[in-house]
Amino acid sequence: MRNKFLIFGNPYIGEEEIAEVVDSLCSGWISTGPKVAKFEKMLAGYLNTDKVHALHSCTSGLFLALLVSGIGEGDEVITTPMTFASTANVIEHVGAKPVFVDIEKNTMNIDPKNIENAITDKTKAIIPVHFAGRPCDMDAIVDIAKRYNLIVIEDAAHAFGAEYKGRKIGTIGDFASFSFYVTKNLVTGEGGALLCGDEEKDDMIQKYALHGLSKGAWKRYSDEGFKHYHVVCPGYKYNMMDIQAALGIHQLARFPEMQKRREEIWKMYDDAFSGLPLLTPTIPEEDTVHARHLYTVLLDIDRTGMKRDYVQEELYRRNIGTGIHFISLHLHPFYKNKYGYERGDFPNAEWISERTLSLPLSAKLTSRDVADVVEAISGIFTKKSL
Ligand SMILES: *Cc1c(COP(=O)(O)O)cnc(C)c1O
Repeated sequence: MRNKFLIFGNPYIGEEEIAEVVDSLCSGWISTGPKVAKFEKMLAGYLNTDKVHALHSCTSGLFLALLVSGIGEGDEVITTPMTFASTANVIEHVGAKPVFVDIEKNTMNIDPKNIENAITDKTKAIIPVHFAGRPCDMDAIVDIAKRYNLIVIEDAAHAFGAEYKGRKIGTIGDFASFSFYVTKNLVTGEGGALLCGDEEKDDMIQKYALHGLSKGAWKRYSDEGFKHYHVVCPGYKYNMMDIQAALGIHQLARFPEMQKRREEIWKMYDDAFSGLPLLTPTIPEEDTVHARHLYTVLLDIDRTGMKRDYVQEELYRRNIGTGIHFISLHLHPFYKNKYGYERGDFPNAEWISERTLSLPLSAKLTSRDVADVVEAISGIFTKKSL
């Protein structure tokens, strides 16, 4: 058994990131400055688009997308319950109603067939989540959105680096929001990026993300001399700091290498787990790239009689950290109580909720770390000879 705890989602931070952060600290540009501008430019280049807004989180990006689309009181937004809290929380924040629909069991993504059935005359938007980094069926989702005049806001928190039928995730919907939170594929500690295809809304995002100040206001204390700013709307405080961008600049440069390592680890797990009482995640067709954010196994709890939480606890005792993505949001007290959701409402999401377990997949993992995870998992299943 390994003697040091293996943290789930431990970020890979190199010497370059450390030096760049030190450079920011010494330069005095700690908050939004030239490094954020550089990171935004690099992101736009990578995503093959004109403009990217670096923000302090994916959550603030999702919120801004709803806000600048004028979605609020009396409106409904359709999304998946198999997601992190923020996807639905932001719908509450603007005063609208989140409407959950069930997922597909094999992809764990929102099922387009269920979207169409849930549309009412109050529906204004769809928020698909590319679960674990696997792109949703965007052709079907965009087609529905066009027919019913709905906005598509992609929660791309898991999907930086993913591609759908040859197109990078981030530019297919009306908006896409990425996360650079510490456990994600590319990290800035806290951080996110929002993309928007509409010029007018894009302009609003810029202002709403920084107090509602007029363009270029972040330069107001720079060596270009003091600039007056104008408050043009009651904006928020969602800007990214240069200290965060300092990490992002080098994370993005190393991104292909990190993704390659995730693929290698993925394959090691696939090979090691065939024959065990669990389902390993599947990969889509060739022209669609899975970002491999999460390696989620589905435990065969019926055959083994071992509940997921028991397996997770056993792994913890063996010094292996894991995650759970996710317990369906409709089962959480706030959404359950407010909207009267019950067990049985979304059978596929519930089925996954009971069986899913995410194993460490950081690019930082050594082959020894991976072997430790495999050994621990195998040990749990052979202990109770099956
Ligand atoms: C992590 C995550 C978010 C939130 O990202 P932040 O950058 O922490 O705001 C949103 N949606 C999903 C599906 C996530 O996993």
